[in-house]
Amino acid sequence: MALTAIDIYKLLPKTNCRECGQSTCLAFAMQIAAGKASIDLCPPASEEAREKLSAAAAPPLPKVTIGTGEREVVLGDETVLFRHEKTFYHPTAIAVSIRDDASDEEFTSRLAAIRRLSFERVGQRISVDLVALRCASGDAGRYARAAAAALEATGLPLVLLAPAEPLASAVEVVAASRPLLAPPPEDLVPAAKLAAERKLPLRVRARGIEGLSVALADARAAGAVSLVADPSPETPREAVAFATNIRRLAILSRNRDLAYPSAFDLGGGFPDPFLAAALLVAKYGSLLVLDSADPADLLPLLTLRQNLFTDPQRPIQVEPGVYPIGAPSESSPVLITTNFSLTYFTVRGDAEAAKVPAHLLIADVDGMSVLTAWAAGKFTGESISKMLAECGIGEKVTHRTLILPGMVARLSGRIEELSGWRVLVGPQESSALPSYLRRLPPGAFLPVHG
Ligand code: SF4
Repeated sequence: MALTAIDIYKLLPKTNCRECGQSTCLAFAMQIAAGKASIDLCPPASEEAREKLSAAAAPPLPKVTIGTGEREVVLGDETVLFRHEKTFYHPTAIAVSIRDDASDEEFTSRLAAIRRLSFERVGQRISVDLVALRCASGDAGRYARAAAAALEATGLPLVLLAPAEPLASAVEVVAASRPLLAPPPEDLVPAAKLAAERKLPLRVRARGIEGLSVALADARAAGAVSLVADPSPETPREAVAFATNIRRLAILSRNRDLAYPSAFDLGGGFPDPFLAAALLVAKYGSLLVLDSADPADLLPLLTLRQNLFTDPQRPIQVEPGVYPIGAPSESSPVLITTNFSLTYFTVRGDAEAAKVPAHLLIADVDGMSVLTAWAAGKFTGESISKMLAECGIGEKVTHRTLILPGMVARLSGRIEELSGWRVLVGPQESSALPSYLRRLPPGAFLPVHG
């Protein structure tokens, strides 16, 4: 269990010397307990105190890195069981597999397909993270060449799914890229020794929590340090049960023997792999290997991951301002919505689909959607009128007509009263914008004079 401030205080020198910057040892203990200070700031602390406090400060689910540089993938390093307790860090990493026994042509086109699994959504890029290379040829030389080719073609970190001998050959050529070694259970010990020698991460695979407990101990005994645990489930239901157990043991029970990020190989005939993948993105897979490289399978999964791993306390926002849709003129319609990223991209996409050039005003409401911002008092007749006066739209158009989202139609009177602009109530849902914009009468945006 985590140490309390009193537990920590008992380990400190209790001299109140202030060298740590706090006025008392108890105040410093409270800082450590809150995760805001480290024992390193207390020079007189004993070795015993340092050891105990460093161990207690380590995250319950340790951090494991695969790959290097910009494409480095980080697993684990989690401190809470549920997202609402804080937030989730390090999204579930997704690897797409490729076999080393494919023909040259198939191998190249499969790598190209994996490279294309990268999409833009609400202003962010969402992509698969790793390539998992399956050794199907049994030929160590061929496997090593395939590993080098996969790394060069995609630049993505590798998961090396191979027996000990091909694994060792591939490590000779791609060790500097920090691949994850993923041997079959029977080759665990030689692979663990290799991981220890080359300081590489190792996936440990065994059946169930009990089997994993033994296998992880074997890997540690062979010197491997950076471990990922695969409980080898046979169904989606079992996968979620294992992932949940591992996470609960690590975070709630502080069981260090089983506290590792979890990995699941959902390829090779695993039943309903994308059902399992979706469940594991939610609870609590750290790394998934999938055989499909079909965008129709991957995009929904990546979208789900993006939604779950977005910090709910920090909505994705776009810059407030005036955005052109197409090439708008001084008589083009003026629409308004809020700066919640999902709202902006949805409205923008629908407005573009209408093929009617327009000016889109994006109001600053701290990244809330239209109704939430209205309920929070941030999207009001006053704030909208202020924006109309200050954002410069008055110089871009000769008319004074604003299209307001239908959900906040009740604001129209107040806006007209405060700003002098005429308000047209737009559709309730943005999906109706194309037909709404195309049906606007020709005289809807006549210039105002005087
Ligand atoms: Fe206490 Fe250490 Fe801070 Fe001194 S430096 S006040 S001994 S916690």
